[in-house]
Amino acid sequence: MTDVGTVGREPLVALDHVDKWFGQLHVLQDINLVIGRGEVVVVIGPSGSGKSTLCRAINRLETIDKGTIALDGQPLPQEGKALAQLRAEVGMVFQSFNLFAHKTILENVMLGPVKVRKQPKADAEKRARELLDRVGVGHQAEKYPAQLSGGQQQRVAIARALAMEPKVMLFDEPTSALDPEMIKEVLDVMVDLARGGMTMVVVTHEMGFARTAGDRVVFMADGRIVEENTPEEFFDNPRSERAKDFLSKIL
Ligand code: ADP
Ligand code: MG
Repeated sequence: MTDVGTVGREPLVALDHVDKWFGQLHVLQDINLVIGRGEVVVVIGPSGSGKSTLCRAINRLETIDKGTIALDGQPLPQEGKALAQLRAEVGMVFQSFNLFAHKTILENVMLGPVKVRKQPKADAEKRARELLDRVGVGHQAEKYPAQLSGGQQQRVAIARALAMEPKVMLFDEPTSALDPEMIKEVLDVMVDLARGGMTMVVVTHEMGFARTAGDRVVFMADGRIVEENTPEEFFDNPRSERAKDFLSKIL
């Protein structure tokens, strides 16, 4: 298997012979994947292939049964303070925005830095406002999530994750719950982030994003990495039958 994107990059996330079962279901099967610092890896594949489980394993929302996952050379901690620290270093953006409904946009973004990072409130607020400006919702800071569109809420969710200064950002189908006209505004923020050098794992079928911002596409099916390549090669010349079949359905 080629390591297209990691050439010349320092490894940041390393999955080594990772297996996971849900009961009888072998949901991750011998996953070997190294994500380099600054690399943008797009994970694509049919529903049920294990993409979300892979993301959740990287920030240890799921345990694994075999193999190792390391972040910046350190194995993922099992529990306690070290696990909370790890979660702070791995930002995650889900399909559903998961903002706190009874807190303002600004409070949503400040919460992690104040509670987990123990930042002084004034510093956290300054930084939160900068991040909200960066994702284009600075003028909505005092509103509540329900007063924003889905696209705006998802951009707040991105700002909230960034406020923790994560080493890597995981995106699990961040635009699949959005109305079509809001997809681009979220993808634009993600492209901007990628250009800024953020290490990203992005589960998405948005090919435009993969081609613009992706260094590598990882194609999963039935819990396995079936194929990985540059976005151009993957979309233009898929090698496996599984990938050809999948692309014929989504293109
Ligand atoms: P994807 O994100 O690629 O759609 P998932 O990682 O969500 O795939 O799921 C992979 C497989 O694991 C699916 O068959 C799914 O039904 C199953 N699965 C996911 N989470 C659980 C769980 N908590 N318990 C049991 N099975 C699960
Ligand atoms: Mg999923």
